[in-house]
Amino acid sequence: MEKKTKKTQKDKSNEWYRKECVKVAKKIVHIRDNDICQKCGKPGNALHCSHVYPEGTYHGMSANPLNMKLLCYYCHFFWWHKNPLEAKDWFVKTFPDRYKKLKKLSQQTLQHNYKKMLIELKEQLKEL
Ligand SMILES: [Zn+2]
Repeated sequence: MEKKTKKTQKDKSNEWYRKECVKVAKKIVHIRDNDICQKCGKPGNALHCSHVYPEGTYHGMSANPLNMKLLCYYCHFFWWHKNPLEAKDWFVKTFPDRYKKLKKLSQQTLQHNYKKMLIELKEQLKEL
């Protein structure tokens, strides 16, 4: 049997750091979006951080707070994912500058040092 070694800071993969970045980014999004659904304005604890450009296809944008918005359960599953064209249209109209930035990012191949990004995101969170 292989001996289990404890993972030290330096063994952690970029992917591990990416996931940590996503966690911090979500905290930033909750504060930035005032803990209310950006579509219907509903507050509450069933709010989701929903990605604009999907995490699976746009991996490099998955930890960017600009690429996330708070939506309530209903708006997330029964509106955002059910009516993607209408939803996109809404996003473009509601957040035009953000959309421009995101569109540009979506056309690039992004390779991040997530360890570095984690430090930056934590700084950003502190300033909120
Ligand atoms: Zn909603």
